Amino acid sequence: MSAVAKSAPAVIVGTPPFDLARIRRDFPILDLTVNGRPLAYLDNAASAQMPRPVIDRLIQYETREHANIHRAVHYLSETATAAYEGARGKVRRFLNAREEREVIYTRGATEAINLVMHGYGRKFLTEGDEIIVSQLEHHSNIVPWQMLCGEKGCKLRVIPCDERGVLDLDAYGKLFNGHTRLVAITHVSNALGTINPVKDMIATAHAHGVPVLVDGAQAAPHLAVDVQDLDCDFYCFSAHKLCGPTGMGALYGKAGLLEKMQPFQGGGDMILSVTFEKTVYNVIPHKFEAGTPHIAGAVGLGATMDYLAAIGMDNIAAWEHALLSYATQQFETLDGVRIIGTAPEKAAVLSFEVKGVHPHDVGTMLNEEGVAVRTGHHCAQPVMQRFRVPATARASFAFYNTMAEVDQLVAGIRRVQQMFT
Ligand code: PLP
Repeated sequence: MSAVAKSAPAVIVGTPPFDLARIRRDFPILDLTVNGRPLAYLDNAASAQMPRPVIDRLIQYETREHANIHRAVHYLSETATAAYEGARGKVRRFLNAREEREVIYTRGATEAINLVMHGYGRKFLTEGDEIIVSQLEHHSNIVPWQMLCGEKGCKLRVIPCDERGVLDLDAYGKLFNGHTRLVAITHVSNALGTINPVKDMIATAHAHGVPVLVDGAQAAPHLAVDVQDLDCDFYCFSAHKLCGPTGMGALYGKAGLLEKMQPFQGGGDMILSVTFEKTVYNVIPHKFEAGTPHIAGAVGLGATMDYLAAIGMDNIAAWEHALLSYATQQFETLDGVRIIGTAPEKAAVLSFEVKGVHPHDVGTMLNEEGVAVRTGHHCAQPVMQRFRVPATARASFAFYNTMAEVDQLVAGIRRVQQMFT
């Protein structure tokens, strides 16, 4: 099979709403060449790259500010505590949470979901209760709930999606019954890019008196998130997908719910007093932050919030949308390439199959061309099963990507097709 251009694509003249060249200079890693080609880093849904201001902030913290927090009166401890707690305020603003105490630091989205499973699920759910998830979930928003079901005798109910990767909202409405206790849904699908109408879905759940956790791991890097407007009960994200450090993330929870929940882990800092007879837990958010946390991670996350705020999430969303539209148009000129996930509302994720070529071979060949994409099941095996594929190749864009990188990707796919036919 050879690649044939179906028709000349309409060229989108993309002008980013920010100085893209200057932005790219903030990311030292983007200067790399891979296999003699300029790196086109299109694996941002897995992890985004870190800009110089965040790197510099981490260096500043490690060289001028580091100490343990909350527990001492000396200069460095107070400085580190101020940086750590100051970053919490930045996350609050980023999510538009009402109060800083509604922001809990976690290791990432995965830990945040596990925190809710332990803190809320294990306390409030019992045998026969039901949890609604969707067919589009990442494993981290399936497995913790399955563990809870196994322990408590609860049941998982699944919202199906159609051939485009759009959730069936009628089916969703019909899943509610007197046993439904929690909805846990992704805001944006990591495998397909579908943006779910979470605001409406939350309203539906609330009409049945059911709280909602939104997995924002793929939404927070790309859309302006307003947890008050969404009215979600929990929202979580990972810093490394937002150009911040790994091992860091945040959980937003409504204060009233967080206060009722049990702690996730026991240890230092999450207590007000301890005797052998009784422990009195600390107030939120500290009740959920046992032990010495990832202080540098929080400081780096704060710097990331500043960096993204300066560009503007709406500007980021607009440019990524332009990249996605252009890439989609270009893909449509390629015979033998199927886009998997064609929802009308999508974030900048392009999952695809090249006819006759295993996705891993597609990824390996694209790497030869300097193009970094992800191949595999994307930790979303139920999505792969839904689309009857073992794996896909996935290009995922960030605001620092260029139209030229899209061209490099498309040229790389043509080369893959030439090599395999
Ligand atoms: N949820 C979604 C939708 C994701 O895409 C990911 C990671 O890819 C996660 C959760 C888990 O994120 P982390 O591994 O950073 O905890």
